Amino acid sequence: MESLPGECTVRFSLDWDESFPNGFYLSAFDENHVFVRKWTVFSIGGGSIQIKEYPLPWNDEVYLEKSYREIRELMDAEGISLLDYVYSHEPDLKEYLYTIMDAMIDCVERGISTEGMLPGRLHMNRTAHRLYEQSTESLLENNDLRLMAYAFAAGEENAAGHSCVTAPTLGACGVMSALVYYCAKDRNMDRSRLCDALAIGGVFGNLIKSNATISGAVGGCQAEVGTAVSMAAASAAYLMGLDIDRIEYAAEIAMEHNLGLTCDPVMGYVMIPCIERNAMGVLRAFDAATLSRYMSNIRKHLVSFDMVVETMKQTGMQIPIELKETAEGGLAKEYLHES
Ligand code: SF4
Repeated sequence: MESLPGECTVRFSLDWDESFPNGFYLSAFDENHVFVRKWTVFSIGGGSIQIKEYPLPWNDEVYLEKSYREIRELMDAEGISLLDYVYSHEPDLKEYLYTIMDAMIDCVERGISTEGMLPGRLHMNRTAHRLYEQSTESLLENNDLRLMAYAFAAGEENAAGHSCVTAPTLGACGVMSALVYYCAKDRNMDRSRLCDALAIGGVFGNLIKSNATISGAVGGCQAEVGTAVSMAAASAAYLMGLDIDRIEYAAEIAMEHNLGLTCDPVMGYVMIPCIERNAMGVLRAFDAATLSRYMSNIRKHLVSFDMVVETMKQTGMQIPIELKETAEGGLAKEYLHES
């Protein structure tokens, strides 16, 4: 373990020569100002970092299966369910998922009961509370409006710098949080079952993180909100009682229809289009699960989850840098131009 001594001087510099935009150099010098070591640290999404000089194969020791196909083959060979697969690899996970679920619920709860202005130069007012109020008045759109209000609540809490759950990232934290809150509070679903739904969604998020990316700076918003929708679609499909093929199909549909989604946060704040996009995302997650349920009665789906993840990765590489979290293209550019 290496650490800095109790007291040291920290100097900041804006130099950055890497092609990957999200990161920083960490250079250490001893008391005689002699260079000791440099780390090039990349933020790769969802709170994870990668150190260029010390590459670590993340995740290897927990899950050996590298694709959904491999997981499925193992499940078939051993006659186990997807939940058996997860909990046999991570016996303590369920307990942790209760903490995650409660953090999601707290986050949404705070978000729908708070009003006022969000920090930053966009001078945006919070809207989750008013959206939620209107959902209690509108019978027709009641469920959709509530789900969107919950996604706004989590997104606004993130924009305010408060505690949220990365699922898979903070920018996309509203999708899974809204699903969990809605199922817990509006549908009174069993807490244990909701944790299992989180575990199911996590399998798909993990595969995307391992085989493509969950970073908007690497793959655009398809990697962030796209992944969140895919995870939530799998969770929703599980909660709807769908079989494993339908769960995979729901996750696949959700990602397929977010392919190419760019990342162009206005003024660099995770607010526009991010917060609203989370609200649309949670609706799309339920839609994907519904479509999976009924399409599977008609024909076998031709595009696998693994296939769509690889497509997302390839598409992300082709998205120009201006549309990958740099706020130099898309809405970010147009907004500055118009305002
Ligand atoms: S637009 Fe960019 S910053 Fe906003 S949620 Fe999507 S990936 Fe994150």
